Amino acid sequence: MKKHNFSAGPCILPQEVFKEASEAILNYNDSGLSIIEISHRSKDFVDVMEEARSLALELLGLEGKGYKALFLQGGASMQFLSVAYNLLQSKAGYINTGSWSDKAIKEAKLFGEVVEIASSKDANFNYIPKGYTIPKNLDYIHCTSNNTIFGTQIKDFPVSEAPLICDMSSDIFSRQLDFSKFSLIYAGAQKNMGPAGTTLVVIKEDILGKIERQIPSMLDYKVHISKGSMFNTPPVFAVYTSMLTLKWLKKFGGVEAIEERNEKKAKLIYSEVDLNPLFKGFAVKEDRSTMNATFTLINEDLKETFDAMCTEAGINGVNGHRSVGGYRASMYNAMTLESVATLVDVMSDLERKA
Ligand SMILES: *Cc1c(COP(=O)(O)O)cnc(C)c1O
Repeated sequence: MKKHNFSAGPCILPQEVFKEASEAILNYNDSGLSIIEISHRSKDFVDVMEEARSLALELLGLEGKGYKALFLQGGASMQFLSVAYNLLQSKAGYINTGSWSDKAIKEAKLFGEVVEIASSKDANFNYIPKGYTIPKNLDYIHCTSNNTIFGTQIKDFPVSEAPLICDMSSDIFSRQLDFSKFSLIYAGAQKNMGPAGTTLVVIKEDILGKIERQIPSMLDYKVHISKGSMFNTPPVFAVYTSMLTLKWLKKFGGVEAIEERNEKKAKLIYSEVDLNPLFKGFAVKEDRSTMNATFTLINEDLKETFDAMCTEAGINGVNGHRSVGGYRASMYNAMTLESVATLVDVMSDLERKA
């Protein structure tokens, strides 16, 4: 039986995508060849890469606005350093909203001065800082739109004249934003787009070429852009499968349609967390993420029973991250309302039993 997969990442993808991707492993487009055995320079694969790149821009509403989409390797973690390598000349500002921001800050410090503009570390990152002042003369501002581990999400992004850079690994394509406010967006595929192994980087080209340091080719965004995201062998299966998910999303109605469903799912789980006396939410209400809902059992003695009931209902991957504890329900784009309803039913069954 297919499980209800609430894993934070790698995570759920649309069932149709799993099916099409597995067929392509055996016989791509009736070619008698697998998608993973053909040359990445073949027309078949170049078409896949180009479609993935253009779908990404189209779904974000960034076509014809000076942006380029790349599918790179090294995960979002590689972008922590690539961003600084390519863009940090003297001083950059970082908003610290969780472990991933923290890691991005650590890498950036190798390349220049880093100003931590705001942080919610004082409360184990259970909120999004607000009302901070942004210093002048920053090379860029970096933020993390959705904090996968803590279950918080930025609703109002920093406004300044410095280019805005955002790690959107766990909420890209999940909600409508004016994406043209961002100069660079990156996202590891394995949270909301595809299998692990590739990272989407969307760059406004005019921010590049402004620093003095020499950049190794593999880390140089300009090199990857000039080679159509094919400077070296790309992770063909991860790119192909991401392309299938983006196609699925377009057919679903795009970001607008998925956002509506994501909001319904979030409402469903959070209303149970708030109304059920056995549970309490981790993140402060106004900053709650629509992607990752974090909550704990008030009485830890019920853990064994609740976990067993989850397993019985075919629910997978709801354990919280070790730095938060409790539970985390990740409800990425591919998750249906029915799967969330199944978890909510188990939570209310527990209340009836306890
Ligand atoms: C998972 C995650 C990362 C790390 O991604 P990798 O691809 O494993 O390097 C970075 N940022 C956020 C917000 C994440 O959720």
